[in-house]
Amino acid sequence: MSVLDLRKLWQLHQIDTAILEIRKRAAALDPGRAIQKEIDRLTGERDQAAEAAKALGGELQDRELQQKSIDDKLKRIDKELYGGKVVNPREVEALQKEIEALKRQRGDHDVRILELWELTPPAKAKVEELDARLDTKKKELAEYQKKVLQAKAKLEQDYKATVVKRDPAAKEVPAPLLSRYEMIRQKHGGTGMAEITRTSSCGVCGMMLPEKLIEGAREGRTVTCEACHRILYKPEGLL
Ligand SMILES: [Zn+2]
Repeated sequence: MSVLDLRKLWQLHQIDTAILEIRKRAAALDPGRAIQKEIDRLTGERDQAAEAAKALGGELQDRELQQKSIDDKLKRIDKELYGGKVVNPREVEALQKEIEALKRQRGDHDVRILELWELTPPAKAKVEELDARLDTKKKELAEYQKKVLQAKAKLEQDYKATVVKRDPAAKEVPAPLLSRYEMIRQKHGGTGMAEITRTSSCGVCGMMLPEKLIEGAREGRTVTCEACHRILYKPEGLL
């Protein structure tokens, strides 16, 4: 092996590193989880608010119907009482008691209906407000996803442009060196080489390297880091 062979392997390593980096960035692309989570939360809140508004509306309608039926009953009893048909004092008393009971019921409905008139508009307004917020969030998500797709397309483009360089670069490297590199790469997270830094440490794991190894790398021998087992390379100009 020569310095030139190592340099060629280093070039291949640069390509592999670029491919790895693109893959990492593609895997880290976030489809908008945080915004989606907020949408889910708002949807739950909105459904609850709609349920509450519906219950209030239903109760109002129900009580108004009951009120009407009480009014009808009162009218009917009134007719019976003052129509001259009922003359028996006990019957009259019974009807008057019924009137009182019905008026009490009506009074209860009146109080609650007033309350419901107060409660219903804000309940409906809350649903509308949540609908508006949901709408905004959904638009935000769509905008965000558009950007993610653009970023993804750019990464795919970069990937294609980089990956075509790999085979020609690999062909430049002597077969034994290449297969050793590939073995290390497979074993150690896709990274088969490490540069020797200015401070004589391994560029991947940070291990301080003995002068003997650095000398070997400089002379074009295939030496590896004792700690992380990558093939060491001394870039030019860093002597
Ligand atoms: Zn190392």
